[in-house]
Amino acid sequence: MLLSSFRSCKVVTGFQSGIRGCIGASFGFLGGGSVTNMDQMSGSKRYSSDMAEFRKHFDKASHIVVLTGAGISAESGVPTFRGAGGFWRRWQAQDLASPNAFRKNPSLVWEFYHYRREVMASKEPNKAHLALAECEERLKKQNRRVVIITQNIDELHKRAGSKNILELHGNLFKTRCTQCGDVQYNRDSPICSALAGKGAPDPEAEDARIPVDQLPRCKKPDCGGLLRPHVVWFGESLDSNVMRRAEEELDSCDLCLVVGTSSVVYPAAMFAPQVASRGVPVAEFNIEETSATDSFGFHFLGPAGENVPQALALTENEPAT
Ligand SMILES: [Zn+2]
Repeated sequence: MLLSSFRSCKVVTGFQSGIRGCIGASFGFLGGGSVTNMDQMSGSKRYSSDMAEFRKHFDKASHIVVLTGAGISAESGVPTFRGAGGFWRRWQAQDLASPNAFRKNPSLVWEFYHYRREVMASKEPNKAHLALAECEERLKKQNRRVVIITQNIDELHKRAGSKNILELHGNLFKTRCTQCGDVQYNRDSPICSALAGKGAPDPEAEDARIPVDQLPRCKKPDCGGLLRPHVVWFGESLDSNVMRRAEEELDSCDLCLVVGTSSVVYPAAMFAPQVASRGVPVAEFNIEETSATDSFGFHFLGPAGENVPQALALTENEPAT
């Protein structure tokens, strides 16, 4: 299986040319033909932005997989700490979200995650999150399945009411013991007393330099090990159990939505092209075209909060509930 070689989380450049080779023959439902660099240079579009056409596929679908990424959270004001202006103090996510950074300075990394946990108290699921949750609930009554596979760690899908969620990159509100491996759900605010009032994001904020024994510790008897956020850091492998379940969903879905992800982080970047290669319709919802856009049958440009509710609204062929 193609995915097996992309189990670790990393940003890959030059993705576009590789992916084209994989899925060149996957456009049967739009009339066929492979995408070439010539097409790209001439600016021709291979995808459709016809919502009525998408809705015909939605009407027929019985198993819908929705891949979501940072873009859907960004519309709720959740900072990503990536790209231009995406800094916490003097750092970006890739500087602090790594095993190496945690080894070198666990206090600093915990301050960063403490800030990210605390900031979520003022953020709410947006119309796209809510539409996905409503759709899952509605279609369940028709024996149709909606599953979210997300790269986000902020729990906004859960707070919106979605039930079928696979969190590829872990969860901001779970901890894992570095000694015994115990995973716990934890929404304490602050997560430990030493972090109270710490984690300010501005560049001139002073590092708290909290002694390691005052950072979050394991509560299991006879352990007391240092806890870390239960999230997948750069250079780490994804949970094999979560990956297996994601692959099962992807292999059996008959419609796929890609919402707010730039499709450059593996393995999620492989998911939608893999589905498209089976001839399954894939619809991308994003505020810009991505390097994978031409791989997909549909592309809807604009905020997810506007386009996703429209795409998933009750159709006239569904039983009114
Ligand atoms: Zn422990």
